[in-house]
Amino acid sequence: MNFLEERIGKDGIVREGNVLKVDSFLNHQMDIRLFEQMGEEWKRRFAGRSINKILTIEASGIGIACIAAQYFDVPVVFAKKSKSINIAGDVYVAEVESFTHKNVNQVIVSRDFLGPEDRVLIIDDFLANGCALQGLISIVEQAGGIVEGIGIAVEKGFQNGGKMIRDMGYQLESLAIVDAMDPQTGKIIFRE
Ligand code: 5GP
Repeated sequence: MNFLEERIGKDGIVREGNVLKVDSFLNHQMDIRLFEQMGEEWKRRFAGRSINKILTIEASGIGIACIAAQYFDVPVVFAKKSKSINIAGDVYVAEVESFTHKNVNQVIVSRDFLGPEDRVLIIDDFLANGCALQGLISIVEQAGGIVEGIGIAVEKGFQNGGKMIRDMGYQLESLAIVDAMDPQTGKIIFRE
């Protein structure tokens, strides 16, 4: 078991509806030493990649992306969730259905902060069905940039996002992959 799997096993709470709560160290209270270990590990896994920007999505991705960015020494841009339908033309837009809130948000990134010169590492906390990642990939494509890789803290391997993203050919590095979890017993099984 790696450091993140151990922490999830110790402090993660399995909820009904395929939701894993990690509020005590990742999604509400944040363990910055743990985030540093995550940043170091992504830096190691993406060592061969030329990355000049990190892109994430508000809100939960921002903390881990900022700490990871210290290891890559690059700026972080986060996609903002916007309810407005009258979005001006100076932004890239994608639609993202929220797994946890079951609503659809438009997410936007200003054209000022992403362009064809950008080689992007996308970072997010969870990967479930892959909607958030598809939106972020679409934004990089609209900008004419290149997705160099995708770093995820917790992938729920029993949902289809991971397979979809790997089948698209991206280097996806999830630091913990949950293959099964049981809300009755609280048991969590990680991929070897
Ligand atoms: P996807 O778009 O891949 O279906 O879902 C990913 C997004 O939904 C992540 O950005 C994350 O915020 C949220 N999410 C999905 N599943 C879980 C989960 O089991 N626990 C938590 N805390 N967030 C989740």
